[in-house]
Amino acid sequence: MKTDHYDAVFLGGGLASGMMARYLKREHPDLNILVIEKNTTTHYNPGESTVGVAGLFFIRDLGLSTYLYLNHLPKCGLRYLFHDRETHNGKPFDVTNCSEIGPNILPIFPTFQVDRKRLDADLWRLNREIGIEVETGNLVTDVEFGEGDALHKVQVSSNGKSRTVETRWVVNSLGRGSKTNDIFDRLSPITIDDEHLAAGAWGRFTNTGDIDLLGDDAWRKKVGYTARYLSTNHFMGRGFWIWAIPIGDGVVSWGIVYDKNIIRDLTQQDAFVEFLKEQPLVAKLLEDAEIVDFQSHPHLTWKRESFCSTDRWACVGDAHGFLDPFYSPGCDVLSRQAYLLEHLIPEQEPAQLKEKVDLVNEYTWHEYDLVKLLYKDQYNGFGSFEIFNIKSLWDFHSYTNRLLWYFYDRKYRDGDFVKAALKTKDKTMELTAAIQDGFRDLALYLTETGQYERQNLGEYSLRQNRFRIEEEMLTGYDDAISVNNHFQICKFTVSELIESRFGLKGLLTNRMAQHALSVAELSGFKLNEEWLESFCGKVARDLESQLQDKFGNNGYHVTVDGESFSQPIPKGLDDLPEDVKSYATNLWQEKAVNTVADSLITGPKSG
Ligand SMILES: Cc1cc2nc3c(=O)[nH]c(=O)nc-3n(C[C@H](O)[C@H](O)[C@H](O)COP(=O)(O)OP(=O)(O)OC[C@H]3O[C@@H](n4cnc5c(N)ncnc54)[C@H](O)[C@@H]3O)c2cc1C
Repeated sequence: MKTDHYDAVFLGGGLASGMMARYLKREHPDLNILVIEKNTTTHYNPGESTVGVAGLFFIRDLGLSTYLYLNHLPKCGLRYLFHDRETHNGKPFDVTNCSEIGPNILPIFPTFQVDRKRLDADLWRLNREIGIEVETGNLVTDVEFGEGDALHKVQVSSNGKSRTVETRWVVNSLGRGSKTNDIFDRLSPITIDDEHLAAGAWGRFTNTGDIDLLGDDAWRKKVGYTARYLSTNHFMGRGFWIWAIPIGDGVVSWGIVYDKNIIRDLTQQDAFVEFLKEQPLVAKLLEDAEIVDFQSHPHLTWKRESFCSTDRWACVGDAHGFLDPFYSPGCDVLSRQAYLLEHLIPEQEPAQLKEKVDLVNEYTWHEYDLVKLLYKDQYNGFGSFEIFNIKSLWDFHSYTNRLLWYFYDRKYRDGDFVKAALKTKDKTMELTAAIQDGFRDLALYLTETGQYERQNLGEYSLRQNRFRIEEEMLTGYDDAISVNNHFQICKFTVSELIESRFGLKGLLTNRMAQHALSVAELSGFKLNEEWLESFCGKVARDLESQLQDKFGNNGYHVTVDGESFSQPIPKGLDDLPEDVKSYATNLWQEKAVNTVADSLITGPKSG
């Protein structure tokens, strides 16, 4: 029986271990790392679309830029297509009518659509080349955890023979379905999260049609002749979204993720294919397609109690938990976890380790809770362009301005940054929840009033293009700018939600209204009449107090309601003396400038 000694042994050789082991070895070449994988060949897996953080991590931290461009597909951003199920405007279904949110320029931070079968296998090879031991065809059967300073013993079986490897750290990267996860269940119990009931079904198809060939020249010109085919395309509907991700060699990955409260069970292949073909645009693209393989999961959302322990183990990737694949966050999470692991694995004093373990465990819970707000109760709005056009801007802007910028500046490697993020976590949660609840409530209102799809035809939005802040990022992180950007997007979003829900105009550009949208006001935001009434009252009092400051206490009484924002002056002020009226009118008509609108780069004007 052979015994080996390692600094870290990764159990499972999927994407999580491929990325994290590579990162640790590149940053700390002295670390002695072993990856143990039961299979000898890789297979297709979801995790094919990367977004900004993961793209940056692959290129910058893993040194895989040339490799990705030569072996996988560059990606043309995220794209969302909607349609009007009932009428198609009284015409036959036509893709050029579908409302759409998507870029007409390439992203500033390169992203890719990867072939997981190829990527996982190449990472085994590329990681061996930098000195990581990757043993395939080896099944992890047990772990005996060493007490105190004693090394852990990992039992491995290969070709009927078993052996033990010894290691200081054990990293569980076994993925989701592995029975061997039982070893960790008693150390870090699993929480199946019933607050978000998402299920998924997915498969690979050959002979998928080329979306770029479906429309005319004007339709292609709208996207600056960039390839829609190379976007991660989302076909949106109430309660679900469908992805189409090209992964090379003529294969396209298709998947459906849905809210089980809204959509029937699709976890069987027949039901999956039937549902795809019920969607007019998807059906067109799949006319001649053939399915290659199929997988499904009846409940996607779950998490382990702890990410890591002072007993020198950590659970990463799918073995740690999973939320929802919407916005392709999987590889982003793996990238951040690589930075978090780096706080733990390089050798350190026990007292330091305790502090770091507590910090990382608290942070991973916070990130899970925060990101869950983007998905929970949101699927009901996914079929409405109007709602999603507001939501996707908030989500995309917050992602870019906060998560991506932090990552660009390698913030997650800095314990003090993580501590500071945790100090403000309650406020962050409160504000995010208030805004996400607004999307949920807009969906309920537009449904009740039969207006849910009123913008689903004929609209084209560039809100997934690029922000000027992405260029600022290249010169380094600036907390004051980032915080202000976030404040601005919150004001912008709340204003748009109110305008949409109440059919109002002018709130977004009214300086007094925008001034009244303080952080406290935003955190307590509710998309209902009571909140609007109280907010209007606040704006009215602000105007009254400015009139009093100027003209003394003359008992001027101002009444503001939602309609006032599109009026030259709030109702009832017409009878004021001319000088007061003129002053009030000037105040009321002062325009607000929101930096979010300025920051969105809309690319070349399309015809
Ligand atoms: C529906 C869906 C869509 C997704 N889409 C995206 C996306 O577009 N973009 C994105 O970034 N992420 C996406 N993800 C997330 C992504 O799939 C995961 O982040 C990623 O696969 C996690 O990798 P992993 O290494 O943790 O698990 P896996 O890739 O499952 O790897 C686990 C490895 O452990 C091995 N193993 C298991 N048991 C043993 C054992 N006893 N001994 C030895 N080896 C063992 C397995 O063979 C496997 O190789 C999606 C997830 C889902 C469910």
